[in-house]
Amino acid sequence: MKITVEQIKDLEAQGATLEPDAAERARLREQVVDYLESYIEDLPQGKAFQRDPGPGPNLNRREKAPDLQHLIEILREEVDLPGINAASGGHLGYIPGGGIYTAGLGDWIAAVTNHYGGIFFGGPGAVRMENALIREIADWVGYPADSAGNLASGGSMANMIGIVSARQALQIDSRRVRKCVVYSSTQAHHCLQKAFRIVGMGEMVWRDIPLDDQFRMRPDELRRQIDRDIQKGLQPSIILGAAGSTDTGAIDPLDTLADIAEHHHMWFHIDAAYGGFFSLLEEEKHKFKGMERSDSLVLDPHKGLFLPYGLGVALVRHASPILAAHHYQANYMQDAQDAQSEWSPADLSPELTKHFRALRLWLPLRLHGLDPFLAQLREKRMLAQYLAQQLPVLGYKLVCQPELSVVAFHWAQGPESDWDHHSRHILQKLEDHGQVFLSSTRLQGHFVIRAAILSFRTHLDTVHTLIELLDKFRPSTNA
Ligand SMILES: *Cc1c(COP(=O)(O)O)cnc(C)c1O
Repeated sequence: MKITVEQIKDLEAQGATLEPDAAERARLREQVVDYLESYIEDLPQGKAFQRDPGPGPNLNRREKAPDLQHLIEILREEVDLPGINAASGGHLGYIPGGGIYTAGLGDWIAAVTNHYGGIFFGGPGAVRMENALIREIADWVGYPADSAGNLASGGSMANMIGIVSARQALQIDSRRVRKCVVYSSTQAHHCLQKAFRIVGMGEMVWRDIPLDDQFRMRPDELRRQIDRDIQKGLQPSIILGAAGSTDTGAIDPLDTLADIAEHHHMWFHIDAAYGGFFSLLEEEKHKFKGMERSDSLVLDPHKGLFLPYGLGVALVRHASPILAAHHYQANYMQDAQDAQSEWSPADLSPELTKHFRALRLWLPLRLHGLDPFLAQLREKRMLAQYLAQQLPVLGYKLVCQPELSVVAFHWAQGPESDWDHHSRHILQKLEDHGQVFLSSTRLQGHFVIRAAILSFRTHLDTVHTLIELLDKFRPSTNA
């Protein structure tokens, strides 16, 4: 069949709605802006949590919608309401994320300009921006000039990049993997075990090292276990340290762990996804001493820098293992190879084509400067201390003093066999109420409630609301 110009032109016309004109763009944009404005304005009165009522009628529909407004209504009804409202300052569960507006503007620009963030040749500006941010964060944490890293989609991916780099540096292959030992704690984030499995290191010997009463890894126990393993003919290989554990915000004795790793030529990986950016605060810095001596390190700007979900930073102390683990050459990439004067993110991570992820961090950092971020972190830390002061007054027991901005507590009055029941009941009441959302964990054999204060919208009023609710839902008064 002969292809005619008319046929092609006809298809061009049929697809033209994918390129709205300036007037149409303005119309669509206004609707989105209106929606987002009401979303933000309604946050303070809205709930932080609503139980999912089950699927609504629209998300499974496949036909073309009449207009954008129609789709925005579906978002309002079937997406915005159920579950945790991650944009709400009342979100104190798990580790809250952020969603600062200017990062959203960065994402918008990144999507519309669609600069290629994967390879230097294709997007030199986007790649330079990513590398400059990696360099900046490396400087913050005291990593050397020959360090490298990647802006990954989150902490889980960033941890995986660190672990793959360890595997590369230590040459842990399938013949050796069962002899190699990783030392961690029961407080390590589960994404680490997941990463080990994904990258083929799931058969390593895994040792959970006992913790002190602040839930930090005990170096004496670690040394003892390493000695035992050496005697058994095993190869101590990786230490996983936490700089801000999820459950309690615990920070392992990093400097001592670095000594031990150095002594045994082991790889020292630190998961600072939650806690890492608190090290920027002068008064908290000492807790992170030794972080700069790790071999790989993870920080989550979508937690500690209040960005929207979708950004975790992997740093590796020396560039060679992360490059060796991810670098790849393909024939169809040969033009790109010649033009490298900067590392390409594609050579430092599993991704090739990459969203212009750097912009969502660069724009807010350069627009606001670092100071308001530090003020927010300092405020969150103080709110946690303030809450920790108030809880015992209400009769709650702190599991430990908050190290950063997570407060773990429970009801520990009356017969011990009733404590968990009471704590679970209190959390249930909070969920039913919905104004603030907290989550729970198990510590020291008990059901424990956690308030994780990290949303940039969480302020004193939120904590006061929480205190009021915790007062109201106390076992003694809610009978
Ligand atoms: C959140 C978190 C992770 C996982 O990161 P994601 O960004 O959720 O993938 C890992 N470790 C710690 C300590 C965390 O708080």
